[in-house]
Amino acid sequence: MRVHKVITCKGCGKRRKPYVGSRNRATKFCRECKGNDFWQSSFGKWFLSAALRQSPDSMPFDEDDIAEIHSLWHQRKKFKGVKYTANKTFTSFWEDGEEEPLLDENGRYESVHSYDLAHLDPVCGEGFQGRLTAKNLMIVPTKINQSLGNKVNHDFGFRVVTDKRFNSEAEVRQWCTNAYALPELVVKLSLVPKRLDKAVSDWDASQWAVAPSMVFASELGRLGGCDKYFSVNGHAQAFRTFLQHGLSEAVAYVQRKGFTELNEPLSEDDF
Ligand SMILES: [Zn+2]
Repeated sequence: MRVHKVITCKGCGKRRKPYVGSRNRATKFCRECKGNDFWQSSFGKWFLSAALRQSPDSMPFDEDDIAEIHSLWHQRKKFKGVKYTANKTFTSFWEDGEEEPLLDENGRYESVHSYDLAHLDPVCGEGFQGRLTAKNLMIVPTKINQSLGNKVNHDFGFRVVTDKRFNSEAEVRQWCTNAYALPELVVKLSLVPKRLDKAVSDWDASQWAVAPSMVFASELGRLGGCDKYFSVNGHAQAFRTFLQHGLSEAVAYVQRKGFTELNEPLSEDDF
């Protein structure tokens, strides 16, 4: 194995051993600064705020678990979609009084749908803490999530009895630095500091907006149900049934109410 020379880290300016990335190539950053990129990324910022409600006892099992949570987080972002809403009240005129076709700088990007990453076993349960782990999270329409609050009685198997709680962001970061290989996660998940994230164009992002009836079908498959569904009927009640009574009751509900199968050939009515 090649031994790498000590470098002046581009992040902290200290003389340190470089973080060695893929193919045994030294980077220009020390291990600590490379791991810092995790917290600087959009996902890292979300993860930090989610972890603040947990404790050392109820954190993700390992790096693979965090990678799964990341893919779920990313999926939720895509499912929400983006639309551009123009601000019609803004007009200006050419000198000759003609209306000027203004580039609408006051319009804004908005989500098409609003989805939460909801805990199945709630994080602040009565006498327990729901673990932050991929299988205890579900992409749920915000309205439905808010209407249920903590009114959950089904046990999803992710309850941790503890009275611990993280007290500060610094504590979460320190604990995670010891518990997980953060620099490796930064590389594996291609995390970049938030300011370097590319702004999404309204065109390609809007392609990804996914309706709740399809989100439910996809989440049902991921969480252990049958994954042959493309969309389900009565999705609001389907989500509620899942959150309140668990997987098997939700599957029974879907079979009663009906669904569209994945890859069902299009009928003539679709054209
Ligand atoms: Zn450094």
